[in-house]
Amino acid sequence: MIDAYGRTISYLRLSVTDRCNLRCAYCMPVAMRFQPRAELLDWDELDAVASAFVGLGVRRLRLTGGEPLVRKGIVEFVERLSRHLRSGALDEITMTTNGTELERNAAALAKHGIRRINVSLDSLDPAQFERITRGGQLDRVIAGIDAALAVGIAIKLNTVVLRNDNLDEVVGLAQWAHRRGVAISFIEVMPLGDVEQSRIDQHVPMTAVRDLLEQRWTLIPSATRTGGPARYFSTNEGGTIGFITPLSENFCGGCNRVRVTATGQLCFCLGQNDGIDLRALLRDPERTQPLGSAIAEAIHRKPLGHDFRIAAAVTGTVDRHMSVTGG
Ligand code: SAM
Ligand code: SF4
Repeated sequence: MIDAYGRTISYLRLSVTDRCNLRCAYCMPVAMRFQPRAELLDWDELDAVASAFVGLGVRRLRLTGGEPLVRKGIVEFVERLSRHLRSGALDEITMTTNGTELERNAAALAKHGIRRINVSLDSLDPAQFERITRGGQLDRVIAGIDAALAVGIAIKLNTVVLRNDNLDEVVGLAQWAHRRGVAISFIEVMPLGDVEQSRIDQHVPMTAVRDLLEQRWTLIPSATRTGGPARYFSTNEGGTIGFITPLSENFCGGCNRVRVTATGQLCFCLGQNDGIDLRALLRDPERTQPLGSAIAEAIHRKPLGHDFRIAAAVTGTVDRHMSVTGG
């Protein structure tokens, strides 16, 4: 599948729920309203969507949310999708999770073919972690990370850096990650949906994060590229650190991905509102066109780049929260 700008689309991020058991301060408001369950794609519909993309040449599938591990049936869904790994049609199924439910699910996920998981971890101080996530328990996440590592799943940590909360923890987080043999990516906050705080107060440019890390390590640019926004570096002590800089650097030229929300909206770009309603197609009894051909026809609408701006008074340039689009 090749878009209008010659980019091969080989990566799908599929959100299986918009719900979450945490309320990270940069992601969603405490009083977040979730979609009624009937609006979400059911497991058969999610399978139909994933399989249509696999049929169109997508090689990598990431399951996300909301929190994917809070939806009942997620392990069975991974087991179902693993047929595409066995057939060789998919290279990998990965997941992005907050880690709170990972301890009890890690072994089953590994059994069904998951080899890599991204875990969000924004603080190593239990009280600060609880504040940022508004109720999360750090020890559960750490137990989840250790359980995944113990069954051979490679972990990458994702840390959203917030000016007034965890900027002073970036070196400590990287040291903690490297001691466990785990890579870590630092992420700039994106203006996706309204939250209580101003995005301007939350935002830290990655240059500031890099300056802090360079006081501790020499960062050597790495050739690793994933087709996504992360740029990776090795430290002089052998650790891996990534920077995800949607705002201060443009990364769209090599973008290889699309996203499908838990309600079946195909989003061509995290930072744009255009998309197509796959749920309407799936639920249309009169539909004759195969889902894959509808997707292939629409893919030329993938835009060249995002429209993010952290401008004064802007909170929510794109009205979808990250938990809706799927991180
Ligand atoms: N609940 C899972 C988790 O937290 O990993 C998966 C979904 S979450 C929406 C995916 C990623 O998006 C997380 O790493 C989270 O930190 C990040 N994220 C959420 N809102 C964001 C925002 N406004 N700007 C940047 N990253 C954000
Ligand atoms: Fe939930 Fe993930 Fe959003 Fe945090 S970042 S509120 S864990 S969906």
